[in-house]
Amino acid sequence: MGNRAYNFNAGPAALPLEVLEQAQQEFVDFRGIGMSIMEISHRSAQYEQVHQETQNLLKELFNIPQGYKVLFLTGGASTQFAMVPMNFLQPGSVGAYSLSGAWADKAIKEAKLFGETVIAASSKEQKYMRMPDLSNLSLPENTAYLHVTSNETIEGSQLQSYPDTGNIPLIADMSSDILSRQVDVSKFGMIYAGAQKNLGPSGVTVVIVREDMLEKANQSVPTMLRYDTHVKNDSLYNTPPSYSIYMINLVLQWIKRQGGLDVLSKINRDKTSLIYDTIDNSAGFYKGCVDVDSRSIMNITFRLQTEELEKQFAKESEQQGFVGLKGHRSVGGLRASTYNAVPYESCKALADFMNDFSKRNG
Ligand SMILES: *Cc1c(COP(=O)(O)O)cnc(C)c1O
Repeated sequence: MGNRAYNFNAGPAALPLEVLEQAQQEFVDFRGIGMSIMEISHRSAQYEQVHQETQNLLKELFNIPQGYKVLFLTGGASTQFAMVPMNFLQPGSVGAYSLSGAWADKAIKEAKLFGETVIAASSKEQKYMRMPDLSNLSLPENTAYLHVTSNETIEGSQLQSYPDTGNIPLIADMSSDILSRQVDVSKFGMIYAGAQKNLGPSGVTVVIVREDMLEKANQSVPTMLRYDTHVKNDSLYNTPPSYSIYMINLVLQWIKRQGGLDVLSKINRDKTSLIYDTIDNSAGFYKGCVDVDSRSIMNITFRLQTEELEKQFAKESEQQGFVGLKGHRSVGGLRASTYNAVPYESCKALADFMNDFSKRNG
């Protein structure tokens, strides 16, 4: 496969070539059934096997303890911004949020439509150049949950550790760093992630919810928007996004073949070091946007001295086969998204390009 781009797209994003090729092979005739996986009932034995296998693989790779359910929902992570408060924010309680960037801000805005919220920690004053400090939180007694965004995809910051919240459920939007490293899932009441960054294609959102969360959940929520509907029906209440789930299945098998999350997280650190080192050794030619101790291993954001130079960088990089390096339109600058499926070779090629570009323009 000589003509694959160096894909640094932020989402939807790169998928492992092996996964795409396997999907291609099985596309028309899924494992000898004479039909595509897309063409069969979600109640069929063949589909149900894929469904359960995907749940089990995720439990295995992410070390999900007993007492948690894995759901495949639709509506993107953005729908979770609303479902979380609809289900878990009771009258008289408050939803606590860590305001860490653009995605956290969106989550809070949705919660405000349903009840009272409190900003438990914020880095807004620092222009989101770092993750808020979560080490000394004082949460109100009537806190229903603490919501954190583990990785701010647009700003390029990532939580380096999670707070202990005791009896208060910790809920995390891990859309852009799920499975990039091992986390202690038992610390969380719920984890959710849109698939299209680190898990598979768009169209499905993975939700990992601790079952006891449902006991306290609000009852007057529309059927499709209640976690408990999907938990009771093993995420088969209605037609799930079966093809996207199948693709997650292939990605999880690929992760397993790589050696699991410990191996993957080391590769991710090596990949990002190539680029962060290039930034740090450029004598100020490149400037990282985020404080070093909040840097993300999934989204690397950086700037050049002028916007002209940034435009030139974007243009020249495109000519050389790099895709997706322009920063999000809301913040400008440059961004390299280095999700699990982005090969080490792509990061090496980018570091080389960056060194060459700075030599020519420094
Ligand atoms: C992309 C992203 C979202 C939004 O996901 P959708 O599936 O498009 O709704 C939410 N949170 C984070 C951290 C993201 O990176």
